Amino acid sequence: MTIIIDSHEDLACNMLRYNRDYTLPVAETRQREVGTSIPTLNFGEALLGWPEYQAGRVAVIFATLFAPPKRYEKDPLFSQAYLTADQARDTYRRQLDTYKQLFDQHPDKFRLIDDRSSLMQVIDRWNNYTMAESGLPVGLVLLMEGAECIRTPDELEYWRENGVRLLGPAWAGNQYCGGTKEPGPLTTAGKLLLARMDELGFTLDISHMDEQSVFQAFDQYQGPIIASHANARALLRGDSNRFLSDSVIRELIARKGVIGIVPYNHFLVWEWTYPGDKTAVTLDTVIAQIDYICQLAGDALHVGIGSDFDGGFGMQSTPKEIDTVADLQKLAPLLLSKGFTIRDVENIMGGNWFHQLERSLS
Ligand SMILES: [Zn+2]
Repeated sequence: MTIIIDSHEDLACNMLRYNRDYTLPVAETRQREVGTSIPTLNFGEALLGWPEYQAGRVAVIFATLFAPPKRYEKDPLFSQAYLTADQARDTYRRQLDTYKQLFDQHPDKFRLIDDRSSLMQVIDRWNNYTMAESGLPVGLVLLMEGAECIRTPDELEYWRENGVRLLGPAWAGNQYCGGTKEPGPLTTAGKLLLARMDELGFTLDISHMDEQSVFQAFDQYQGPIIASHANARALLRGDSNRFLSDSVIRELIARKGVIGIVPYNHFLVWEWTYPGDKTAVTLDTVIAQIDYICQLAGDALHVGIGSDFDGGFGMQSTPKEIDTVADLQKLAPLLLSKGFTIRDVENIMGGNWFHQLERSLS
């Protein structure tokens, strides 16, 4: 089984919001949440857990700091949603503390990856796995999604020092740039933010940025650029700015970027909405997204998996063949049957993200 690197999971947000313990098996998390409002709030049951990372050989995860602005949150009890930059900062700091506690309490299960050496320590363990070992630590690379918590660009240094290595300035639109459902350009503050990110060596994640701001960022940003979780717009009927146009994909490819495909039914078949028929969407639609990027690139070096599992959708909102994160391994034989080589499949499942991290971490 090839190693998987998953470029997007909102772990801390869910740990705080639903009191989830991601060291537990998925079945136990689901059992704990029977009769609660969580499966409905999260569009389905939990998909993630450390035992399933082992079973699916998920070695590395881009783990987010993420919360939405209050105007997008209908649940009044969701205390992480924010009105102001100060509130956003408090929330994101709490999530950072949550990861620190996880690393302190379960060093055998989760480790911070913040440089090349910590990346290699985790990857070497997974590559030299012996059956005698009872489990391997999953490496977490910290990714900030939405930069409302950064009140001025000089605060970037604090997040950098605390391990954040990738940053997506937008979720919805904000003081820095246009975002999902809220189109717009990079603002003056956004340009300053990007300039400082460049100096500090962040990787820029354009997933939620509006296209106008993305092209300005392409002009300005010298450092690595990726899309941690975004699908190709050409294969979707919906005209949302959450998806990537061919010209954005082409530029990402030219910049050696990698795109994480999201196996969320609504992002695979736009007409599908929760609670729809899970079995109506299959992994073939994920393969089609992967293949589309590879056809534009002319190789299999620019695409990976950015599951976003548990990040606003659960098991009932994923393709038919997916019960837990471990089932992402089912993509490998499907890719082989589509004509991808073993090498291509290894790259798509994790190799492309590994090389991206190797290049971008110091
Ligand atoms: Zn997102």
